[in-house]
Amino acid sequence: MVNVMEKDILKVLVSEEELKERVRQLGEQINEKYRDKRPLFLGVLKGSFIFMADLVRASGLKADVEFIAVSSYHNGTRSSGVVQITHDLQQDITGRDIIVVEDILDSGNTLSFLVGYFKAKGAASVSIATLLDKPSRRTKPVTAEFVGFNVPDEFVVGYGLDYAQMYRNLPYIGVLKAEVYENALD
Ligand code: 5GP
Ligand code: MG
Repeated sequence: MVNVMEKDILKVLVSEEELKERVRQLGEQINEKYRDKRPLFLGVLKGSFIFMADLVRASGLKADVEFIAVSSYHNGTRSSGVVQITHDLQQDITGRDIIVVEDILDSGNTLSFLVGYFKAKGAASVSIATLLDKPSRRTKPVTAEFVGFNVPDEFVVGYGLDYAQMYRNLPYIGVLKAEVYENALD
């Protein structure tokens, strides 16, 4: 089979094997912390969907899942700074122990907003599991308890993360060739 996305990739930052092993470790950490609880894994759509699916299975917990969708990026590589809920919670989270599952923690805008939102909705506790962290970009004081990998300040795609809604289904984390962005502007 020809993977037609491959030719757009400049380099692989985190391989499929590295992702698998790290998600297994994060699952163990979460299992240890929440073993006696029934946490709610709360995925931030769309970027978290693949990480969420793997992490919730790796946790080995009696857990349930929920999703929220926000938008702050508009088909580009720059944030607008304003967080908008585009698909809200479909259940009452009062008294729940929440594990927010994110693809990447960048400026911290999205997660600082969401943590405040979930606390205002009555969550008993809120912790963050993010696959990737770009600590050098932080403008809001947000820390994730469970972090897969720190990455440099480069725009990354794959394993859920998109560019213009594409490349989410790459099985690894990679960086696109500059020409992909240039062609998108035509
Ligand atoms: P923050 O609100 O922390 O600035 O940004 C978080 C969101 O920005 C992430 O959930 C993700 O959607 C997007 N984002 C930030 N950096 C990247 C990146 O390198 N690649 C992709 N695809 N999305 C990113
Ligand atoms: Mg996201």
